[in-house]
Amino acid sequence: MVVDSPSDTARRAIIVGGSTSGLLAAALLRRRGWQVDVFERSPVELEGRGAGIVCHSELLEALEESGAGTNAIGIEVGERLAFDESGTVIGRRPFPQTVTSWDRLYQLVRRIVPDSYYHLDHTLAAIEQDAAGVRAIFENGRSVEGELLIGADGFRSTVRQQFLPAITPQYSGYLIWRGLADEAALQPDIRDAVFDRFTFHFPQGAEVLGYPIAGKNNDLRKGNRRYNWVWYRRASEADLDAMLTDATGRYHPMGISPTFIREEVIASMRAAARTAIAPQLLHVLEKIERPFFTPIYDLLSPQFTFGRVALIGDAAVVARPHVGYGTTKAAGDALSLARALEADRGDLSAALQRYQAERYGIGEQCFYRGRQLGAWISGAPPRTAREREEAEELHSVAGILRHVASGEFLQM
Ligand SMILES: Cc1cc2nc3c(=O)[nH]c(=O)nc-3n(C[C@H](O)[C@H](O)[C@H](O)COP(=O)(O)OP(=O)(O)OC[C@H]3O[C@@H](n4cnc5c(N)ncnc54)[C@H](O)[C@@H]3O)c2cc1C
Repeated sequence: MVVDSPSDTARRAIIVGGSTSGLLAAALLRRRGWQVDVFERSPVELEGRGAGIVCHSELLEALEESGAGTNAIGIEVGERLAFDESGTVIGRRPFPQTVTSWDRLYQLVRRIVPDSYYHLDHTLAAIEQDAAGVRAIFENGRSVEGELLIGADGFRSTVRQQFLPAITPQYSGYLIWRGLADEAALQPDIRDAVFDRFTFHFPQGAEVLGYPIAGKNNDLRKGNRRYNWVWYRRASEADLDAMLTDATGRYHPMGISPTFIREEVIASMRAAARTAIAPQLLHVLEKIERPFFTPIYDLLSPQFTFGRVALIGDAAVVARPHVGYGTTKAAGDALSLARALEADRGDLSAALQRYQAERYGIGEQCFYRGRQLGAWISGAPPRTAREREEAEELHSVAGILRHVASGEFLQM
């Protein structure tokens, strides 16, 4: 059944977290007749950190089924290339894929959830539940009741912490530097070398890569696009703490906003890049006004459901970005949950069990494959015979071109 506006007798869901997974879950449930309210901590509409997202079929399916659609979603890339430190091509693989930006995805799903059901400036403080229902209590004093609560509140999920306080994100030992260069700012020969493809370089213990995304205001026209540049680099916990400290000496343990990153931290990264990175990808970095970094964390919740509560997206599992599957996994979680609720209409417990049974294995696979793909950056030794066996394939140039952000591990 597909309906666009909930009736007075509709089942009620509370969604905590108004980013991609929360919005998709809201749209998918609304289309099944639920009344859904989304509560987002941010006091203002979310804004992209301006980075890229690789699209896999499950993401496109969720967008279509939610009513958001996939119109002008992104850019088609045709192949993958690897450079060595001198810029010589040392690997090439045909690999058609669609790449998009976080902003585009957010725009597509945000516009189909009416403002009257999307509540900014609501930070969840606690959850209470019993046989009759579930209640969300917010820091601003408001409390809301429903039949179901969905925790779509990201890797530091307050919802998860309430049930599993011991499960916390673990720092991987490395971080990701990122930024966007305008296509028009690139030298023509470099633009031709990197555009319309994924490009890679593997300096010792690191990984640099890039791919095109839309320009400002989702401009997909040639010449107006941007190149999404990424450098995974190791950083000790002590170095990370220093990097998370701003120019006034304030420490940002939950992540530092790009504007607060100290100039000398960026300058030191740029200086290291000059002797480490293939010339094509170095040129892209030089055209990025303000690169920023995000630490890479691991998180696998041992349980996705707790009574009337379900976790989706990063709140349930964080897949390191090497799998390029985080947003697709989040969309797949939302889709699976909505379908389970439709199939087991009226029996919430059966629906949530069905959801967990369907998604736990996928989340686990994303989690482990992400860790394996990143192991040569973190320096973590293989833990099992299988990991030892796979390491050689996953950490070769051909293997990386084949496995990074490919989604193939789920078909194996
Ligand atoms: C603003 C923003 C920009 C992003 N940009 C990129 C990008 O450019 N590239 C990329 O690969 N990934 C990006 N991500 C991450 C990406 O969206 C997620 O990893 C993935 O899509 C899974 O999404 P999610 O909705 O599960 O979690 P998230 O996207 O992390 O969203 C969680 C949401 O929950 C909210 N929240 C947290 N705690 C509470 C609380 N107690 N009460 C209420 N709300 C709460 C947060 O404010 C956030 O909006 C971004 C995330 C955000 C929030």
